[in-house]
Amino acid sequence: MSPLARARPDLAAFVPYASARRSGLVGAIRLNANESPWADDGDPAALNRYPDPQPLALRSDLATLYGVAEDRLWTGRGSDEAIDLLLRGFCRAGRDNVVGLAPSFGMYRIGAQLQGAEYRALTLSPDDGFALDPERLLARVDADTKLVVLCSPNNPTGELHHEVVGFLAEALAGRALLVVDEAYIEFAGIPSAAALLDRYDNLVVLRTLSKAHALAGARIGSLIAHPDVARFIGRIAAPYPLPLPCVAAAIAALEPAALERTRARIATLVGERRQLADALAARPDVRTVWPSAANFVLARFADGPAALQRALAAGIVLRDVSAQPGLTDCLRITVGSPYENEALLEALA
Ligand SMILES: *Cc1c(COP(=O)(O)O)cnc(C)c1O
Repeated sequence: MSPLARARPDLAAFVPYASARRSGLVGAIRLNANESPWADDGDPAALNRYPDPQPLALRSDLATLYGVAEDRLWTGRGSDEAIDLLLRGFCRAGRDNVVGLAPSFGMYRIGAQLQGAEYRALTLSPDDGFALDPERLLARVDADTKLVVLCSPNNPTGELHHEVVGFLAEALAGRALLVVDEAYIEFAGIPSAAALLDRYDNLVVLRTLSKAHALAGARIGSLIAHPDVARFIGRIAAPYPLPLPCVAAAIAALEPAALERTRARIATLVGERRQLADALAARPDVRTVWPSAANFVLARFADGPAALQRALAAGIVLRDVSAQPGLTDCLRITVGSPYENEALLEALA
């Protein structure tokens, strides 16, 4: 059974907007897209032309980076757009549901809400390091579940859930897609779940250049899945999701020398993560620092709001995640540069 069998039935015969670039017609003189014939004199990038819906060079670079076949990959405006399109393409409003974790990344719930889908969260406990019993997650799944979202490393808690990916994908075969959000996997030092794509048709992996590749401002994310799913997401996506300057920035970031610099930054941040976690754990006003496989640490303070204010008074902004289940007095702290981390520890002292 194709994993598309569970997509919205009303979109089965969906015909996407026939943009000029999608037509595939090529010619030296392009009079089919109502573009300006001239680029502005101050524009060396020829922005007078619409971009490719899926620029070949970028798609090829990303497929190489992630070690997957090109027909499995769709790239768009950050993994946020991929999450949104999965929800829109698979969930019938008012009927279907999405199963995920809590605490977890807030966009799953928001995207589900926008689509009129219920978000069913399995609450993980801070007391056992947010351990996940996959059977309990499966118990949330019913006939109207279209997506099960596993964020690993999880945001804002930092723990990995990759050990249950195969089990869940198998258990959900023919029922729901298993979406593994790997926004932070570069900091985890483990292989991507994309290695399992040949075995599980219903597995979807989300990757992004926003975090480890230092390109949050360019908004480049990838969905990696069965080719039918990748093609379907491309059909329901906006006609020109990727602005040309962002594509150019991404291609530049994927050149060998840039990838070398990325590896160096990751190594630095992983070292800083350990130091920051140790320094925080040694403070009398910090109750718990959870182990993190990402580029942030989650810490519970004796008085979370007070710690947030002390940092803010020194001009340092932290993320208050205390509203998530079980995270009272918890702050999520991004691992910064050595200077920034030092400044934070001084501000808290
Ligand atoms: C930051 C983040 C994203 C968003 O990535 P973009 O590619 O910038 O949209 C996705 N998932 C998680 C868990 C994140 O923390």
